[in-house]
Amino acid sequence: MSLLVVGSVAFDSIKTPHGNKDRVLGGAATYFAIAASYFTDVRIVAVVGEDFTAKEEKVLLARGIDTSGIVRESGKSFFWAGEYGDNVNEAKTLDTQLGVFAAFNPQVPDTFKDSKYVFLANIDPVLQVNVRKQIGGAKFVAGDTMNYWINGSRQQLGEMLKVVDALLINDNEAKMMANDQSLPRAAQAILKMGPKALVIKHGEYGATVFFQDGAFGIGRHPFRAPTLPIERVTDPTGAGDSFAGGFMGYIASQGELTRDVFKRAMFYGGVMGSFAVEAFGTERLQTLTREEIEERYKIFRELTHIE
Ligand code: AMP
Repeated sequence: MSLLVVGSVAFDSIKTPHGNKDRVLGGAATYFAIAASYFTDVRIVAVVGEDFTAKEEKVLLARGIDTSGIVRESGKSFFWAGEYGDNVNEAKTLDTQLGVFAAFNPQVPDTFKDSKYVFLANIDPVLQVNVRKQIGGAKFVAGDTMNYWINGSRQQLGEMLKVVDALLINDNEAKMMANDQSLPRAAQAILKMGPKALVIKHGEYGATVFFQDGAFGIGRHPFRAPTLPIERVTDPTGAGDSFAGGFMGYIASQGELTRDVFKRAMFYGGVMGSFAVEAFGTERLQTLTREEIEERYKIFRELTHIE
């Protein structure tokens, strides 16, 4: 089943305690698409500048990703520079240059309009709603957002929450969105705003999904999945988007949304996030095999499983 992602394709300059890398291929849609490509067919809608060359496109094509929805404009691609200290869960933004991303007005090509699974990566919620409207027949739509929109575009974000089945955000974003420091209370408040499922990512500690009563007919009890304690987090950039890619990719590959599928999707999300942080940029994600993914999935199971 085809999975569409709309979001940033970018160049990132990253500093971590393990080194620096300048202008590596990044962007939320890039991490998401590569991670999801191990599970299902993936299509991207994005905008890039003249600095995005055949070399960058090849990384996506090599994973079988359909890049025909990536529009090239004159100017520069979105650029993000970030730094991590000892706390791997906290990125400090050093620079953001929107470039051609500033005028991004995503148009879903006709050939993508039959997408059944859609991920609205972190962009202006007004654009997220526009994209959602262009894909009437979607079966399952998930979205992401960030502090910037939570603080500055409340009302628009509220509209976005009404058109997604699931929202994937991190702890701090959830608390900020609900204006409540208790995570379970914040989760209940956000579910009232629209999404049937709320996946809260706890960085290196895993993720929890909360459901609206009766959502998808799969019960209302929350479920928590682990992440693998990784000794050397080389570059945390993209962990959240890779989580989303594994999560959505697995759901799209299953066709049916049962509670077990949802639970396994949470595990595959964690698996892909844990690979993403092992090297700079998308390096580790590019060369995975399905066997490596399954092997790590087993380790994740063992981490929490009891008879
Ligand atoms: P994550 O670490 O999963 O939160 O995502 C990191 C990716 O998000 C990086 O590759 C950045 O290029 C991208 N990014 C950073 N800031 C923004 C933004 N304001 N809008 C869209 N994408 C962004």
